[in-house]
Amino acid sequence: MSIQDSFGRTIQYLRLSVTDLCNYRCIYCMPQEGVCKKSHADMLSIEEMTEIVRAAHTLGINKVRLTGGEPLVRKGLTTLCRNIKAIDSAIELGITTNGALLAPMAMELKDAGVDRLNISLDSIDPKTFKEITRGGDPQDVLDGIKAAQNAGFDNIKINTVLLKGINDGELYDFIRLTKDNAIHVRFIELMPLGVAKDWESDRFMTTAMIESMLQNAELLRIDGVARVYRLPDHKGTIGLICPMSHSFCPSCNKIRVTADGKLKPCLHSDQEIDLRGLQGKELEEAIKSGILQKPESHRFGTAGATTARYMNEIGG
Ligand code: SAM
Ligand code: SF4
Repeated sequence: MSIQDSFGRTIQYLRLSVTDLCNYRCIYCMPQEGVCKKSHADMLSIEEMTEIVRAAHTLGINKVRLTGGEPLVRKGLTTLCRNIKAIDSAIELGITTNGALLAPMAMELKDAGVDRLNISLDSIDPKTFKEITRGGDPQDVLDGIKAAQNAGFDNIKINTVLLKGINDGELYDFIRLTKDNAIHVRFIELMPLGVAKDWESDRFMTTAMIESMLQNAELLRIDGVARVYRLPDHKGTIGLICPMSHSFCPSCNKIRVTADGKLKPCLHSDQEIDLRGLQGKELEEAIKSGILQKPESHRFGTAGATTARYMNEIGG
């Protein structure tokens, strides 16, 4: 089974936010005071999330990424992972995490069937990292990466959001991480969403500057939304993800579900379909209708995205 939206795009990928809570407060993602904690009853249970994945898989979704907020703070995360793999072991299951809590959990997640990890790391410099995350220590994340490698995760992706004047002095440090380490560093352009919607334009930068640092590198592939390079004799790769300077809409294959059970056909719009309380065929029909409501494209106006949600609520 496969499903296409109204513009002929095959939709295969679900990003499911398992919580909007987070142990960090990244300056571009979450307000300093955090988010108002919704009541437990307002959030999807592990069973409801499992049913959403089951219904989406029936329609043709074969790739699921758990995100947040910080997915590793969600109670029952490993049960959810096991449930998803029990629906179909062929579902490709990934998690996007800030990595701070990963070291003690890496083996458990591997055992629960998680196939891929994307780990966010915006700075390796303790002072800058602390400033960006409002209190974090990059060593926790580096320990998490090591533990994940030891647990048998390969193809680990490091996601680094480009923040002009904040972490742009560390680009070579990130590139150097790929010398002896078979990891994939991906530089991501900051999008005007959530907190960053109100940021001045001089905080945003494109990946053009990095391309000029990669003149000896080989372009390995164009991998979905990323252009992937490898420098000579480097074990890892460098990916450039440019939602601002290039449009990905023609190849968009995703839907998103928020932790309170709203299907978002497009990251950038405020359109939402409530999935809570639905089951079986009704749930499938609601997901299908969300897929068919995907817009052809989005455009960031001068005011940024139209969604009023913060990124920790949508999941990136
Ligand atoms: N807490 C987890 C983490 O940080 O990896 C998962 C959720 S977080 C919202 C997912 C990704 O979205 C992170 O890599 C984060 O850097 C990215 N992100 C958040 N706000 C963004 C923005 N305005 N533009 C681009 N990426 C953003
Ligand atoms: Fe938390 Fe991830 Fe947002 Fe940072 S980017 S505040 S780690 S949800």
